[in-house]
Amino acid sequence: MQKRLSGSARVLVTGAAGFLGSHLCDALLADGRSVVGVDNLCTGKALNLQHLAGEARFELMEQDICQPFDPGPVDYVFNFASPASPLDYMDLGVETLLVGSEGTRNTLEIARKYSAGFLQASTSECYGDPQVHPQPEDYWGHVNPVGPRSVYDEAKRFSEALTMAYHRYHHLATRIVRIFNTYGPRLQSRDGRVISNLMTQALRGEDLTIYGDGTQTRSFCYVSDEIEGILRLARSDEHWPVNIGNPEEWTILECAQQVLAVTGSASRIKFEPLPVDDPLQRCPDITRARRLLGWEPKIDLKTGLTRSLDYFRQCVARGEQARPVHSAARVTNLTRPAAGTD
Ligand code: UDP
Repeated sequence: MQKRLSGSARVLVTGAAGFLGSHLCDALLADGRSVVGVDNLCTGKALNLQHLAGEARFELMEQDICQPFDPGPVDYVFNFASPASPLDYMDLGVETLLVGSEGTRNTLEIARKYSAGFLQASTSECYGDPQVHPQPEDYWGHVNPVGPRSVYDEAKRFSEALTMAYHRYHHLATRIVRIFNTYGPRLQSRDGRVISNLMTQALRGEDLTIYGDGTQTRSFCYVSDEIEGILRLARSDEHWPVNIGNPEEWTILECAQQVLAVTGSASRIKFEPLPVDDPLQRCPDITRARRLLGWEPKIDLKTGLTRSLDYFRQCVARGEQARPVHSAARVTNLTRPAAGTD
């Protein structure tokens, strides 16, 4: 039941070509493990794994995890496959719901078949637009089940429920990490997230787009801190969800100021309408991670942005641009019935 990530395991990582998945593959390989990566490349990028081309301990299967598949015997499964930026999961809404349901079920079945440990990548989106602040793991959240973000929020909440069900009914050794906003090299410049947009815009000398008045908050974790927390959870016996994120909270305006300072850009700030159901505040309570895993983040926002600078410079040199949020998602609540229609 308490199968931990151990020394020389052969490990399956779904979503291996994604931002977090590719960093996770690197960390597992650096620890001496063999890794089978799976990705259907719907949002992940082969470029993120290019440096592993000559690595004998790494193999990539191009595969949609919504279809049953068999990677061969594995000791541990990290389920990281899903569109994850708001623009991507709103573009791929049905696919996002299916990967969180059928895809999670298929990967849980692999863990069951090979008696492997299983770690599910979940999200702070499980808390929705939270009314408890900061968010501890025992807060059940404040989620709109039918709004534009619901395709992701409910997919991940279902993934959590299914993971707990396999733990309870099939005695699988499961872990659930709730990941808060994470950034660093390989965050796609075109995924529409705030750090990618602002860094790209600043380096291109374009206006920085701030949605709403910029007083909404997020807590940004640098990718190496996030991966370290995830690996510690995989090595632990904890089957309840654990928040892994940086508890330092920033308004989006403050974040833009940090971006300007780090890039030395003279870009100006442009205010645009706030997307529908955009959470007003987000900050992890990491008491549980500190206590159970002895983990806390080490890299502050300014240091992390500085470490990400070269990567975003390369993106801009390739001609990549920021991606604005869809105007439909920004200004229209497509799911709110007109008055008197129900
Ligand atoms: N945001 C912004 N400008 C951008 C992109 C995002 O002001 O160009 C805001 C967005 O409205 C949200 C916050 O930044 O309040 C974080 O957005 P992101 O898409 O990075 O992730 P989320 O935490 O909402 O999933």
